[in-house]
Amino acid sequence: MRARRAKGSGVLFACAVLLLAAACGPAGDAKAGVTPAAQDDTARKRAQMVETQIVARGVRDPNVLAAMRDVPRHEFVDASQRDHAHDDGPVPIGGSRQTVSQPYIVALMTELLELGPEEKVLEIGTGSGYQSAVLGRVAGHVYSIEIIPELARASEERLRRLGFKNVTVREGDGYRGWPEHAPFDGIIVTAAPERIPQPLLDQLAPNGRMVIPVGGFFQELKVFKKDANGKVTEKDIIPVRFVPMTGEIEKTPPVPPQN
Ligand code: SAH
Repeated sequence: MRARRAKGSGVLFACAVLLLAAACGPAGDAKAGVTPAAQDDTARKRAQMVETQIVARGVRDPNVLAAMRDVPRHEFVDASQRDHAHDDGPVPIGGSRQTVSQPYIVALMTELLELGPEEKVLEIGTGSGYQSAVLGRVAGHVYSIEIIPELARASEERLRRLGFKNVTVREGDGYRGWPEHAPFDGIIVTAAPERIPQPLLDQLAPNGRMVIPVGGFFQELKVFKKDANGKVTEKDIIPVRFVPMTGEIEKTPPVPPQN
């Protein structure tokens, strides 16, 4: 994932001192399997992640920033990667070749969706469930589809264990969306198709927003907005690098060039 480098080595140093202090703190509630000191430690790492990687790059929506501080990112990465959970880049998801997106990209895409607390959002590419959890903190309900059965099962179980009650996951190809729950106020796609899946645009509500990376080797993050009359406009945001969207989209022929 390409992005501008974050500033803030001074903040990093200050937090390193705080982290050391936390690690030396008293041991706590062994029953829950997590000591209060360890919880403080991950909360501090998230706060630092938000300041140096996300606020520093211009994300401002207070609900998005609160969600990024709140959702325990370390719970969503492969156990062997926990030390890297808050790094400024994508992190491998357990048992697959997929990755959890860079924190900044998760925050940016969530902000671009402009979700209200009652709104309904569709996510294509559940992966670890991390982006779904962040969406769950800012929206009314999240419907998320994952094409790899083991990932769908694992993320569903993880989100339930962590108490994200307003996120519904199902296994399947997201190309055709989720007609039973359409239309959606927001649609987010976290795997890159080379072309826009038309069924997703069709399932966007009037005044809805869709955030999607589009392309092959070179991809652009785009926002599509549908106005109250159903007219769709498109805006380019930044170059990105996502895993390819697989399944039916790979079989749909490109639209022939006009003239
Ligand atoms: N949002 C995820 C990261 C997504 S990685 C997170 O926060 O962890 C992209 C995911 O999209 C992968 O898990 C991949 O299996 C899935 N994917 C690819 N094509 C898909 C399709 N057609 N339908 C649903 N999921 C798809």
